[in-house]
Amino acid sequence: MYIIGQQEIDAVARVVNTKALFRYGLGHECERFEQRYAAYLGGKHFSLAASGSYALTAAMIGLGIGPGDEVLVPAHTYMASATSVLAAGAIPVIVDVDESITIDPDAIEAAIGPRTRAVIPVHMWGTMCDMEDIMEIARRRKLFVIEDCCQAVGGSYKGRKAGSIGDVGCYSFNFYKNMTAGEGGGVLTSDDAVAKRVNCAIDPCHAFWTGKDEDSKPFAGNGARASEFMGAVLNVQLDRIDGIIEAMRRERDTILTGIRELEKLGLRAAPLNSREFDCGANVFLTLPNAEAATLFVQTFPSVIAGKTGRHTYTEWDQVLMGLGAAHPLMNPYNMPANAECRRTYSRDMCARSLEILNRTILVPTHPEHSAQQIQDIIHNIKAATRVALGHVKTAEVDVRNAGAVDATKYDLKVVSW
Ligand SMILES: *Cc1c(COP(=O)(O)O)cnc(C)c1O
Repeated sequence: MYIIGQQEIDAVARVVNTKALFRYGLGHECERFEQRYAAYLGGKHFSLAASGSYALTAAMIGLGIGPGDEVLVPAHTYMASATSVLAAGAIPVIVDVDESITIDPDAIEAAIGPRTRAVIPVHMWGTMCDMEDIMEIARRRKLFVIEDCCQAVGGSYKGRKAGSIGDVGCYSFNFYKNMTAGEGGGVLTSDDAVAKRVNCAIDPCHAFWTGKDEDSKPFAGNGARASEFMGAVLNVQLDRIDGIIEAMRRERDTILTGIRELEKLGLRAAPLNSREFDCGANVFLTLPNAEAATLFVQTFPSVIAGKTGRHTYTEWDQVLMGLGAAHPLMNPYNMPANAECRRTYSRDMCARSLEILNRTILVPTHPEHSAQQIQDIIHNIKAATRVALGHVKTAEVDVRNAGAVDATKYDLKVVSW
């Protein structure tokens, strides 16, 4: 959550005052948002849902992914990217990230097996996956591409909005994301048939409420319908998002310019796939090793990408242990249809990702940072780099009170000031 205020209060009050609290036949906020957001993204159909996690599952269902299928998931993402695959009855296969800390296209190519149906590029921490290479591989090897844009709302890859490049894009509007209604999510697709199945997954009664889709074949979806309060808040947030992203990008670029001299000392900006268009939500710094990264965050409290608590495969115990199903017979790991899928995981299967993640630092930006705070963050990065790379001792640097983050509470942003 970055910016929320009176306009959102007014929008919710309007919904209460009209008593039009249901999206079908009464209110128009959800439908209005869906149309506006689809146009903003440059896609055809956007379907709101109760969460980003369910949006991902609805996307799998929409594409017809299920038992017997493998889906490639990056080693570094919020675990919903992997659990959504299991929720659809398919098996997640975990593949390495590269120094951009997003899925490595070479690792995708190497991981494709006879059962692989799809790949989930996750635009982590507001930065973009290498979509050109990923789409080339996916088209050649006949994989669906499900973009997980939950952390990249408002961001673009080389001018095209995140989620509009693959077959489907999935979004979250929970409290920690760039645009928020407290909770919420949704799916973008330009395929009419996929959109119908997504709508049925989100609301098995969709055809009844809308009186549309007579030709579609309904099935037992779970039900994750959006509320008009969500739609009302998101209609305001959509007016704010470009300003939020611009401010974060500006801050990120100011910081990168301000710390350029540190390259000589061994601090590098992480190589990003579409720096000028991504969200700018963090400055990504690459240190030579994990020891240096630990010293860096001890001096300037910031985030080691591999140590956020639940964004790396080693922390997804439900997935790794195969305990993800509510009923044993619904457990994808036990389903006969999945017998030929790869179902074994180990803590060191993506050791290269762990090595990269444990030496990559995230320094979050914020659209309301003042010019002075940004200068203080530059100062803090310089101080922490000199300590991390052994040029001075901790006691010899002063760290200012700006930009510090409690990494144990860090989701996309919980910034302490
Ligand atoms: C937040 C997030 C999700 C899930 O979204 P919810 O709305 O919290 O269910 C999925 N994937 C990623 C990468 C996320 O950051």
